[in-house]
Amino acid sequence: YKISMEQLKVMEVLGRGQYGVVHKVFHKPTHVMMALKEIRLELNKRALQQIIMELDVLHKARSPYIVDFYGAFFIESGVYYSMEYMDFGSLDRLYGTGIPEPVLGQITLSVVRGLRFLKDELNIIHRDVKPTNILVNKKGDVKLCDFGVSGELNQSLAKTHVGCQSYMAPERIFSTSGPDGYTIQSDVWSLGLTIIEAATGRFPYEAAGFTNVFDQINAIVNGASPSLPEDRHSSAACDFIDKCLNKDPARRPNYHDLLAHPWLVEAAAAADTVDMEEWAVGAHALFLERTQPQPSPASRQ
Ligand code: ATP
Ligand code: MG
Repeated sequence: YKISMEQLKVMEVLGRGQYGVVHKVFHKPTHVMMALKEIRLELNKRALQQIIMELDVLHKARSPYIVDFYGAFFIESGVYYSMEYMDFGSLDRLYGTGIPEPVLGQITLSVVRGLRFLKDELNIIHRDVKPTNILVNKKGDVKLCDFGVSGELNQSLAKTHVGCQSYMAPERIFSTSGPDGYTIQSDVWSLGLTIIEAATGRFPYEAAGFTNVFDQINAIVNGASPSLPEDRHSSAACDFIDKCLNKDPARRPNYHDLLAHPWLVEAAAAADTVDMEEWAVGAHALFLERTQPQPSPASRQ
């Protein structure tokens, strides 16, 4: 079954990334709401065709921790792919001043299970673990998107990367091995940074006073790893983060190790006691309050 632009009614913008816009779309034949991601790339037709073919693997990526994939196509110099629409958007919009630890434990559990699924079932390394690629729906489900399925696409994106916050592991920053040198260990580093950001409400290197990219890169490569504030978090959570952010990639845990870590074992046991839906609804309401302009006193009368 092939999805094409003609079948889609384009609705509002859900967000913008470095490579293009994500729209909410309505798939007319099935009446399903979807998110359509655009990746603008200056590539020849052969390369675009290759990317579309490689993205097809996503049809097999069915897991409760991975955003569903519906199909991909290209128009002129852009790749488009449609995926599950996640009502409450990405984690960066929901963490506010910081997510309470019980909820954070459930989010981390979902993310690690998603990453393990990608690795074990599809032999895929995510390559872009960060809060904007962790999505939440109104039931409180947490799912991963934007992982590196296509070698051709990974290569094109690696050439044009211009991130302003780097979740990249220290060993990746000056690496000359290209996209092929990427390992699971580098994703585990990005996971550690992502959890600190979700816990504190701020990108850890920015919170540490490194305001520009060059200072941040220097701190990532040469500085001590960030950590969770010990006065606000359990020792199990702090230890989990310290292990993810080991500067030596060989000493970072793999997903099996992470799932056996006391913090996630405890989170798995407590799953029934944490109301993720309630958290998601509340966090989304606060996000709307922060971003939607309130009516001015004059217009309210
Ligand atoms: P970058 O381009 O640096 O990777 P990004 O991940 O924010 O950043 P996009 O992947 O283009 O860029 O996504 C833009 C925004 O669209 C995201 O931040 C997210 O809030 C929103 N978004 C993406 N996919 C979905 C989806 N399936 N459902 C709902 N919102 C989405
Ligand atoms: Mg993204």
